[in-house]
Amino acid sequence: MKDAVREHERLSVCVNKTLAQIKLEIENNSYPVTEADLLILSDCPLCGSDKTLRISEVSLNKSLVFFSTDICQDCLHIYRAISPNEAWFVARWDQISTGTLSVYNESLEEKRRVRYELYYGLLHKHKRSGRLLDVGAAYGAGTRVFRERGFQVEALEPERDRAEYIRKICDIETHSCTLDKFKPNDETYDLIVFAHCLEHLNDPVGSLKTLKNWLKKDGVIYLEIPIAWKVIDWQDSLFMAHKHNFVEKNIRKLVAELGFNVLDSYLIPDNDAPFCNLALVIQPKSDGLATIGSDRLLDPEQYDSQDLKCLYEIGLPVARPAGEVLKFDVPHITNFYHILKSDRRNCIVRDGFITY
Ligand SMILES: [Zn+2]
Repeated sequence: MKDAVREHERLSVCVNKTLAQIKLEIENNSYPVTEADLLILSDCPLCGSDKTLRISEVSLNKSLVFFSTDICQDCLHIYRAISPNEAWFVARWDQISTGTLSVYNESLEEKRRVRYELYYGLLHKHKRSGRLLDVGAAYGAGTRVFRERGFQVEALEPERDRAEYIRKICDIETHSCTLDKFKPNDETYDLIVFAHCLEHLNDPVGSLKTLKNWLKKDGVIYLEIPIAWKVIDWQDSLFMAHKHNFVEKNIRKLVAELGFNVLDSYLIPDNDAPFCNLALVIQPKSDGLATIGSDRLLDPEQYDSQDLKCLYEIGLPVARPAGEVLKFDVPHITNFYHILKSDRRNCIVRDGFITY
């Protein structure tokens, strides 16, 4: 009898140890979020309209909704109405910082270099030299392309490890902060490369206005963004890295309203997927409202908010739960790009939620 009790005690110690280990592992490999960490928008961040419609939301253990995707009924802009704020993301970058001067993914940087070679080819008819700012420069492989061709380059990169790499290994003047915190010196830029950044920023209108102020009078911005029709499928509901999904019509309208002329527009092959992104070469117009231009490279002829909403069901691994809003529920955040590190297809429908 005594032996049985002892054995039972031994087993329960083992079980508790294992449970504690699992708990520790989850804590170490997950990113906590509370209500205080959230940025909540009530109006469209592009046009200010309050006529918005929720497409999907993600909750933590069916309590805190920490991420939502909404669409503006007026300008058809898709955006995160609820998402962790910038301070939360900065803290996560610090959490994963290794403090080592090495490139996280060499092949991504090589792809970046090739992409920037293409940018140079497209842009040299507008700018052949001068001061250049590369916004969101990653590890600087793209910035180097322009330096090698005679530009005086600077990089803006908010992730500390990456910024240190550009500064120390590439020997490029680097500003390690977010766009809204950066104050350029008195001088302004001839060319700003702003590729695959706008969709990551909370305030796209304010960010473009800021960049306009940093340009010389005849300066040029190379803006490249993914377009909703090409990038959205069911997984976008869980993709925290992107704050916005633009359609071509609303981004063209926005740059015109901010006083930019579109000098050129291009379709640029994506690094990782078999589709193209939209590139606009824009320049401030000296007198008032610029022209929107009628060319559309990526939008369909006709569409409405329902057509865009339908994109969120493409490839859904389970039958869509009933209800207007597509609801997901997760036990924790284990990846701050895709919410979950594990297979996102590994889910079931329960009580109206797609649950992990
Ligand atoms: Zn809007």
